[in-house]
This record gives sequence, C-alpha cells and structure tokens, in this order.
Amino acid sequence: MAKQSVADLDPTGKIVLVRVDFNVPQDSDGTITDDRRIRMAVPTIRSIIDRGGKAVLMSHLGRPKGEVNPKLSLAPVAKRLGELLGKPVVLAADTGGKDSTEKAHALSTGDVLVLENVRFNPGEKKGDDASYVAGLAGLADAYVNDAFGTCHRTEASMYAVPKTMKESGKPAVVGFLVEKEIQYLSDAVGQPKRPFVAILGGKKVSDKIAVITNLLKICDHVLIGGAMAYTFSLAQGGKTGDSLVEPDKLELAKQLIRDGGDKLVLPVDTQCADDFSPDANKKIVKAGEIPDGFEGLDIGPDTATRYVEIIRGAGTVVWNGPMGVFEMPPFDAGTKAVADAVASATASGAITIIGGGDSAAAVEQLGYAEKVSHVSTGGGASLEMLEGKAFKTVDILDE
Ligand code: AMP
Repeated sequence: MAKQSVADLDPTGKIVLVRVDFNVPQDSDGTITDDRRIRMAVPTIRSIIDRGGKAVLMSHLGRPKGEVNPKLSLAPVAKRLGELLGKPVVLAADTGGKDSTEKAHALSTGDVLVLENVRFNPGEKKGDDASYVAGLAGLADAYVNDAFGTCHRTEASMYAVPKTMKESGKPAVVGFLVEKEIQYLSDAVGQPKRPFVAILGGKKVSDKIAVITNLLKICDHVLIGGAMAYTFSLAQGGKTGDSLVEPDKLELAKQLIRDGGDKLVLPVDTQCADDFSPDANKKIVKAGEIPDGFEGLDIGPDTATRYVEIIRGAGTVVWNGPMGVFEMPPFDAGTKAVADAVASATASGAITIIGGGDSAAAVEQLGYAEKVSHVSTGGGASLEMLEGKAFKTVDILDE
C-alpha cells in the first residue's frame, strides 16, 4: 500500500519534525561545494511552512562519531537553507535537549529551525537510547522522513524516533523527495519498460555483488565498466597489468559470468596508461591484454560504441558507478559517452535513473543532470533498492 506523504498531513499550527539528508560536501574552509541535497528538501519544507506549520529539521553531516565537532556543524547548511527559502533559519545547539526544545516551542507559524548534527550525540548511531529518542520525539506533533540518502540506516532519527511518535498517536509520513526516489527506483525494478539496461561501474565488484546478482534476474542487459571490469577479465584468464583487481573475488566473478550468460556485457577494449596521471603514456588494448606496467583507467572506444548502441535502444536505464576515472580527463571519455547515450535515451522516452554517489557526481560534472529522468540523492540507499531490499525506516511510516 502507498505511504502517506507530507501532502496528506495537515501541518496548520503544528510543529513538524523532518528528517532530511543535509550531508553535503564541503571544502576545507567549510564552504558547501554542492547544495543539491538542501535544494531537494525545499519542496517538503515549503509544503509545511506555506500551509501554516512550523518545521524542525534534523540531519547528520559527516562522521563525528558521537562527539561535538565544530567542523561538522550544520551552521553553514542552516545559512544556505535560509538563502534558498528567503528567510532566516534558526540553528539549535543540540538535538532534543534544552536549547532545541526551547527554540522549537518559540517558533511562529512559517518558521524553520535546524537542529545541530544528530551524530554529535552517541544515541543517534546507537539507535535505541531511550532518553535521546524521547528528546527528539517530544519536540514535535508530526514526523516526516525526507532523508532518502539515509533510508537504509536504522539510526535513531530514522527509525526509533518515528516509531515512538507513532506510538503516541502522532502522524509519521514520507516527504516528497523520499516519495519520488522510491517511486522511480521501485517502479524501475518492479515494472520496467523494456529493454531494461543496467550500467554498473566504479571501483570494486565486491561493493556491487548483490546489485549485479539482482539486476541480472530482472534486466535485459547488464553493462559492466570501471575498475571492476578487470576482476571479471582476470576471472576469464585475461591479463590486467597493474589495474585495480580483487583477486579474492575471482570465483564470484566466474559465477556471475556463468549465471549472467549473454545478459552480462563486459568491455571488449580498455584505455590504459603507464601511470595514474593525465600525462601518462596511453594505449588502447583489447580486453584482457593490458601489458605489465600499464593499468586500465577507462573503457575503450569499441566498448563505448557497443554500450552506446545498447543504451540508446533502452526503455529503462539504471546506472551506478562511472566507466573509468571520470575525474581525470581523458579517462572520462567512456563515462561521457555513456552519459550522452543515457541523455539520448531519455529524449526518446526512456526512464533513466542515475544512482547517487559518484555516478551522480559524474553526470553533474559532465552537465547531464538535467537530461535524465532522475538523479538519486542516495548512493548506498539507491543500491539497496536496486538489490531489492525493503527499508525498515520507510515500512514503519503511515500507510
Ligand atoms: P565507486 O565508488 O565504487 O562507484 O567508484 C567510483 C570511483 O571509481 C571513481 O572515483 C573513479 O575514479 C574510480 N574508478 C573507476 N574506474 C576506475 C579504474 N579503471 N581505475 C581506477 N579507479 C577507477
């Protein structure tokens, strides 16, 4: 059954506690380098405050390990959110303690309060610390989960807090972002328009075993790129030179090759180099023929041509992980060709979904973010959805 969303909630005169994912990248001076996650939460926040509610937002930022760390304060995030909303946003110094309770109760209609980093409190990761959970749950009249990037983690603000609020009769619903993410990812997996093409790349095959296994069951083609292709190549008896490989995953790669049959599409050539540098000596070789002293840093042009052809004919595309070292031209060529083909498929009516993390960064960097159906805000969370896992943090919310 469908989950209730923030649109089903009447926020008038209520304090609404919203778990958002404001885990944004920052440079060494604390300047936010990509505010996408903040922008994506704005529709939910606006829906609450524009309809007469008061919003109290909570998020983690980085990994402070249960200790206060001023470098991981949400102060810059609150400031940026204030700019996006065009109104001041107050920051509370704690999470469910004296300061946040006082500030939450002092809010007027339409006001927004951001709590400090929830991971400053060891109770957040622990999940079931009763006094920490009660402090947060007691702050508000309703709960909204709009933190898709954290939906695969049952930390206190994601699970115990809404559970406690529900037990005392308070509504707990999904926000617009979580609703949209789940709709895209679960529809893609549940009722894909065919041909359904998955593109998987990135560093390690070990990170993506579960997703490859699940997608091989439901996709028409699973295209492999990135460094993980070399573990498959090694498993086929190929030469991989100095490429990144996982020798302890060879049996598993062999198994996936056996199970995948024609569905599993591996690179036919490789762009390799004698150093991890743009100025290195470069060579294009056939897959499995990487000479000693060279490492594979991108799919080769013949592979790119083959992948582009398959992607252009797709009805649904999901993509997680770059085809090569996209951060370092010219080794971005394969990722660029794939991004361009995904954009073309979108223009021809395909549903195209980019997993979060590095693939989202790659399409943003290459200028394709607006040319695909959906760029997920969650790396780990979107992978788990594509693995076919359910989220306890969403299951617990009101139907
Ligand atoms: P992941 O987090 O597993 O999706 O991996 C993304 C990272 O893999 C990016 O930083 C890429 O630069 C890197 N990557 C992709 N292909 C290669 C390669 N052939 N050799 C080394 N690193 C790679």
